[in-house]
Amino acid sequence: MTEVEQLLHQYHIKPTRKRVAVLDILTRSNQRHFTAEQLYLQLQTVGFDTGLATVYRVLNDFSSAGLLRRNQLIQGKAYYELADEQPHMHLIDIHQGEILEIQNDALVTQLLSTVQQMGYAIVDVQLNIYVKPQEQPPATVKY
Ligand SMILES: [Zn+2]
Repeated sequence: MTEVEQLLHQYHIKPTRKRVAVLDILTRSNQRHFTAEQLYLQLQTVGFDTGLATVYRVLNDFSSAGLLRRNQLIQGKAYYELADEQPHMHLIDIHQGEILEIQNDALVTQLLSTVQQMGYAIVDVQLNIYVKPQEQPPATVKY
């Protein structure tokens, strides 16, 4: 069994050819956050011919099973990432459309335990901070 097939097995997902192809890209890429369109284009690049609707279906299956986390990151657009790690914060540059992860497990753990202490069970976590380049302060003019 390949690593990808094992992962599908672990989440009780039947390993169809399409699912294996999508998960292969998700696990092997350096990119961590994908839109369905980006995955679709990558599939075309590796010569796997499928439709965008199929990609959406596979991503939905993976999200329902808990294998992927779905985030609305930029302008309400859904981005998918592997849910294998602890929830983390996203820093989103709205000018560049760039998504960075802030790794601060202590801060996130503290935040989540605060929520639990308030008597809630956590259903989903989305910690997104939207930024743009800082504007230069106006130069001071001296007379
Ligand atoms: Zn992320």
